[in-house]
Amino acid sequence: MQRPIIAIIGRPNVGKSRLFNRLLGKRVAIVEEEPGVTRDRNYALCDYLGRSFTVVDTGGLNLTIHGGIMAQVGEQTKRAIQEADLLLFVMDGKEGITPVDQEILELLRHASKTVFYVVNKIDGPRDEKRMVDFYQLGVDSLYPISAEHGYGVAELLEQVIKVLPPSEQPAEPSNGLPKIAVVGRPNVGKSTLVNTILGEERLLTSEIPGTTRDSIDTLVQYKDKKYVFIDTAGIRRRGRIESGVERFSVSRTLKSLERCDVALLLLDGQEGVVEQDTKIVGQILKLGKGCILLINKWDLREKKTQAMEKFRAELARRFAFLPYAPTLFLTALTAKKIPQVFTLVDQVMTAYTQRITTADLNRFFEARVKDHPPPSYRGRRVKLYYFTQAETRPPVFVTFCNYPAGVPASYLRYLENQLRAIFGFVGVPIKILVRKKR
Ligand code: GDP
Repeated sequence: MQRPIIAIIGRPNVGKSRLFNRLLGKRVAIVEEEPGVTRDRNYALCDYLGRSFTVVDTGGLNLTIHGGIMAQVGEQTKRAIQEADLLLFVMDGKEGITPVDQEILELLRHASKTVFYVVNKIDGPRDEKRMVDFYQLGVDSLYPISAEHGYGVAELLEQVIKVLPPSEQPAEPSNGLPKIAVVGRPNVGKSTLVNTILGEERLLTSEIPGTTRDSIDTLVQYKDKKYVFIDTAGIRRRGRIESGVERFSVSRTLKSLERCDVALLLLDGQEGVVEQDTKIVGQILKLGKGCILLINKWDLREKKTQAMEKFRAELARRFAFLPYAPTLFLTALTAKKIPQVFTLVDQVMTAYTQRITTADLNRFFEARVKDHPPPSYRGRRVKLYYFTQAETRPPVFVTFCNYPAGVPASYLRYLENQLRAIFGFVGVPIKILVRKKR
C-alpha cells in the first residue's frame, strides 16, 4: 500500500517539530512502535479517523546545504513540493510574516500541490486577533493552531484528511513479480550497485513506469526469472547528478519500501552500522518486508575473514531484531557477487510468499508444544489448541489458546525459532498471534 505523504514545512523555530510531535502524540496513533526504531525520527506512519498517511518533518532533515537559512529552507521546501502529496506550511503567529516566509510563499505559489497555511502559537480564541496579518495572504486554507497546547489541531487534521488522496494499491504491469528495493544511506553504494546490476550484459533489462510521476522501475531478467527493481531512475539520478548535496530522501526510501517484497539494505563495510541504518531497519520491520543485508565496499577492508566476524558481531548487536536477515559481503563496483544476490533474493522471496498447510503446521507444533509447553498462568495450564497460517507477505500465524495473556513473549520466540528451523523463512519477519479459543 502506498500512503499519501504530508510534509511539514516552514522556517526554523516556527514550531514544525512541535506540530509533528503533536500529530504523533495525542490524536494520531503510530501504527505500531517496533523495537529498534529511535525516538528522533523525522517521519512517521500515522492513522487518523481510519485514514493512513505518512508525515515528514522537513525541519528534521539534515540537509548539508551551504548558504544560510534561506538556502536550507528553500531546498527543504522544494523537496517537499516534489515528494509530498500535501503540505502544511507553518508560520509563527507571534512574529507575523517574515521575509523567509515570503520566499516560501513564492515557491508554493508556483507549485501545484495542496497547501494548508498553518499559523502556530495561537493559544486560544484570545490570540486570534493576531491572524489579521495573515488574512492579507489571501489564501483560503488558513488555520490558527497551537502545536504546544493542541488548540485548533483537530480542526486542521479533519480538513486535511478530507482532501488527502487515498492510499493506493498500485496497479502495475509488473504484478506478481518480485519487487526489490535498494535502500541505504547516502554514499553507501546504492547507485553503484544498481548500475552494476543493470549494466550486466548477461541480464536483460527494460524500463517500466513506476507508480509515481517521476519514478521509473526496471524489469530485470536473470536466468529465466524476472524481477522488478523499484525506482531505479531515482537511485541513479541521486548518484549522478545530485552528488555533493544530501541525497538521502526519507520519503523516497519509504515509498520504495512500501512497494517492495524484498529490501536490499546496503551498509558501509568500512564505517559499520550507523544511526541512519537502524532507522531504515526500523522501517523495514514496521512494514514487514523481506530483508537482505549487503555489506558493501568490502574491497577496502583488509584481513577480511577476521573483519567479517567482527562485522557480524556488530550486526547481531545493532540489529538485534533482524537476526533472520541473510548477510552478503560484496563490492558493488564489480559484478562478482551479483549471482549470489539473486540467489538470496529468490530464497527470501520464496520464504516471503510460502504458505504452510494447516495440517503440516499442526503436525509440527503438536510435538513441539508437547515437548516444551508454555508455562502455567496464574496456576492454570496454558493450552495451545491449533495453529494456522493466516497470511503471507509477510507470514502471519495464528494460534488459539485458552489464556492468550498467559503466553509470554519468550514462548512466542521459541515457537518462531522452531518455525524458522523447520520451514526456513530466511530473511522475512514472522508474526505469531495468539487468539482466545471460543
Ligand atoms: P549512493 O549514494 O548510495 O547511491 O552511493 P554511490 O553508489 O554514489 O557510491 C558512493 C561512492 O562510493 C562512489 O564514489 C562509489 O564509487 C563508491 N563505491 C560504491 N561501491 C563501492 C565499492 O564496493 N567499493 C569501493 N571501493 N567504492 C565503492
